[in-house]
Amino acid sequence: MSTIKQEAQRCLKCKNAMCSKNCPVSTAIPEVIELFLNGNIKKAGEILFYNNPLTAVTSVICPHERNCTGHCVRGLKGEPVMFYRIEEYVSRFYLETLEIPEIKKNGIKVAVAGAGPAGITMSLLLLASGYDVTLFEAQDNIGGVLRYGIPPFRLPREILEMYKDIMLRMGLHFRPNTRIGTNIMIDDLFPDGYKAVFVSTGTGRPNKLGLLGETLGHVHFAVDYLKSPEAFKLGQRVAIVGAGNVAIDAARTAIRRAHSHVNILHFMGEENMTANRDEVEMAQLEGVEFTHYAQAVRILEDRVRCVRVKRVENADGSVSFEEDYSDVFDVFADSVIIAIGQGPGADMKAAGVKLTQRGLFDVNENGETNTPGVFAAGDIVSGPKTVVDAVAFTKRVFERMEEYLKNVTE
Ligand SMILES: Cc1cc2nc3c(=O)[nH]c(=O)nc-3n(C[C@H](O)[C@H](O)[C@H](O)COP(=O)(O)OP(=O)(O)OC[C@H]3O[C@@H](n4cnc5c(N)ncnc54)[C@H](O)[C@@H]3O)c2cc1C
Repeated sequence: MSTIKQEAQRCLKCKNAMCSKNCPVSTAIPEVIELFLNGNIKKAGEILFYNNPLTAVTSVICPHERNCTGHCVRGLKGEPVMFYRIEEYVSRFYLETLEIPEIKKNGIKVAVAGAGPAGITMSLLLLASGYDVTLFEAQDNIGGVLRYGIPPFRLPREILEMYKDIMLRMGLHFRPNTRIGTNIMIDDLFPDGYKAVFVSTGTGRPNKLGLLGETLGHVHFAVDYLKSPEAFKLGQRVAIVGAGNVAIDAARTAIRRAHSHVNILHFMGEENMTANRDEVEMAQLEGVEFTHYAQAVRILEDRVRCVRVKRVENADGSVSFEEDYSDVFDVFADSVIIAIGQGPGADMKAAGVKLTQRGLFDVNENGETNTPGVFAAGDIVSGPKTVVDAVAFTKRVFERMEEYLKNVTE
């Protein structure tokens, strides 16, 4: 494998850099690589951080093959430049050596609900601009899915500790174990002097299969399992229903923690899997079995009953999938983990904020809700997406919030 410097030297510094164009936060990749090669790592880190406060995270867990790496022109005829390796090194160094500058406080209070990627990004942007930020989080620590979903073997928790430390040093007030919408409501915040509220509570509620057997004692939802895998006793054989990133994370965690044999049941083919290619390949290497074209129809005490799915090529060229109820088979399992997507929790329903049919926050292109002063971004707006998408939209919402805050406090 090439060294990081050799990797940087392979960059062609394209004028019309497709890597940057296909990055949701338009990272200035050629510029960062140039600074890195000239030995100006701090400046490179600063550019990365101010453009994307979560650069130390996204460099590790972005779906690079869909963004920067996947669009590198070097990849057309050979190996693309692995920019994320350079980004990870530079952004880690930047965080580790960051000295917080003196920030002139403006005394304007803003509340942030939810300490996942969107909430952390917004808190950092507000704190850096002098706002008095209180971050409310339902769990006992910051990170959201970065801490309570993505396994530590993919994202070291020390990165999150660095972010927490930086925010606290910048003057953040952190209220852990505080769920907005149950006791403290959004409406309670304004009388206490908060001028705006940013909601970034994500989509932590797992979707149900709606099958018989889903409430049995050996059936779990992947997002619940990933929160604290040590709390679960899975047994030798684990069947996972679903084939996205969450399913793969649950499978790889079960193999590591419970040494289980894991079988992923997926109703379409391998080419239709939504999980990152890299993660799928690693799961295969680690021994995860994949049963494609299998639709779970019932969960029993020791097995998942499935029917075979047929891939049908339609006359108009489209492809559809049809269950064949004459072809029934059983997959034996001591535990079943369901990973078929997530939706928003119910906590915010009473806040008077307009929701979409899916229960997501209904916002305009700047993240404004129908309630003046209430803004939202991240998965609670988009539905389950990626960290870099949450950062990109949060940046846009921050700009609008600043305008709003200037108007209401003048
Ligand atoms: C298992 C898993 C693996 C993933 N892997 C990747 C990956 O590899 N790469 C990638 O880019 N994306 C990945 N994603 C998606 C990514 O993590 C999300 O898109 C991202 O975390 C969304 O950020 P968010 O801040 O909107 O929400 P979240 O990360 O969900 O954070 C929301 C926070 O709000 C808190 N909260 C909820 N309700 C309340 C309330 N009422 N009051 C106060 N706090 C509340 C929650 O406890 C949580 O801390 C993955 C998702 C999952 C579930």
